Amino acid sequence: MGFYDVLQQWRSFDFNGFFTEVSATSVEAILAKENLAPLDFLTLLGDAAAPYREAIARRAFKITRRQFGNTIRLFTPLYISNYCENVCPYCSFGCRQTIDRRTLSLDEIESEARAIAQTGMRHVLVLTGEAPAKTPLRYLADVVDILREHFASIALEIFPLAGDGYKELIGHGVDGLTIYQEVYDEYLYKGYHRGGPKEDFVFRLDAPERALKENMRAVTIGPLLGLAQPVSEIFFAALHADYLWKKYPAAELSVSLPRLRPLVGEFKQPFYVNDTQFVRMLIALRLFLPAAGLTVSTRESADFRNNIVSLGVTKMSAGVSTAVGGHLDSSSVGQFEIADTRSVQEVNCDLLARGFQPVMHDWNSKLS
Ligand code: SF4
Repeated sequence: MGFYDVLQQWRSFDFNGFFTEVSATSVEAILAKENLAPLDFLTLLGDAAAPYREAIARRAFKITRRQFGNTIRLFTPLYISNYCENVCPYCSFGCRQTIDRRTLSLDEIESEARAIAQTGMRHVLVLTGEAPAKTPLRYLADVVDILREHFASIALEIFPLAGDGYKELIGHGVDGLTIYQEVYDEYLYKGYHRGGPKEDFVFRLDAPERALKENMRAVTIGPLLGLAQPVSEIFFAALHADYLWKKYPAAELSVSLPRLRPLVGEFKQPFYVNDTQFVRMLIALRLFLPAAGLTVSTRESADFRNNIVSLGVTKMSAGVSTAVGGHLDSSSVGQFEIADTRSVQEVNCDLLARGFQPVMHDWNSKLS
């Protein structure tokens, strides 16, 4: 049974009806528990839990310190191509957007890698659109071979691959995969993705598990908040993480909570997640998935990231450009506007000032 079967079991769940039954007593009973069930997590996302936010936040802080100490792992994205065959109306790289497109040459990859490595960063996340003719597996393997000379950890945020594709790239040194389902509501997902290989909901949904079956060390999943009903989306993402965690307990599992940001084109987001709702999701996730990484990207502002870093966050991006070749050329169009434009050094300093230890190196690999 794959996660799609799990999702099917919740297909007709009445979220509104559920929240009408939730009381303060049920929230208090959940806060007395050590391990939360899925519906406990859902309860913490509802209005009945709002008066308990301080208590939930304190517990999220404690759990995070116990599991991760005071470390925050930093990484920098590296965009290598913006060609894409998909239509995703919420993305500047969608094939119907009129933008200059390019794929970095291997020499340009080397230059970008050097520019990122000069900041002291040793964790990189490689991103592409979905255009396998422009970024075939052979090219991706060559990219990873170059990056291996500069970075201790290389993760991918690329189009979903078959298992043997992941196996090959792991063989070249990839140790992490980030793949957002974007939308867990299958009906809405199909509405957003009419055309292109991304139409295949299940192939994307199963990608994290295909990678884990090939022994991918770390996997990050999540919805893109703003495209569908936020509470059910984060609930399904948490169920997905829980499913993967139970099946692949040796893996490093993380959930990310990207909120939609301004981009090229006319797209208007149908749902909005405000800061209070975002924090509610973050701290509830920490209680439900105590050992999971929680990533907050530069889609969030510097002030907001500084304010929420103690509430369960374990990973942050820093020194970010969402443009292809953007670490050396600031003129190309990014995938979306970032809100936190701090350099790696500035993020480092802000974390240190708040008592956190930014981790940019993989010390284990240095000692081996
Ligand atoms: S979200 Fe990904 S798949 Fe969709 S258009 Fe953008 S780059 Fe392509």
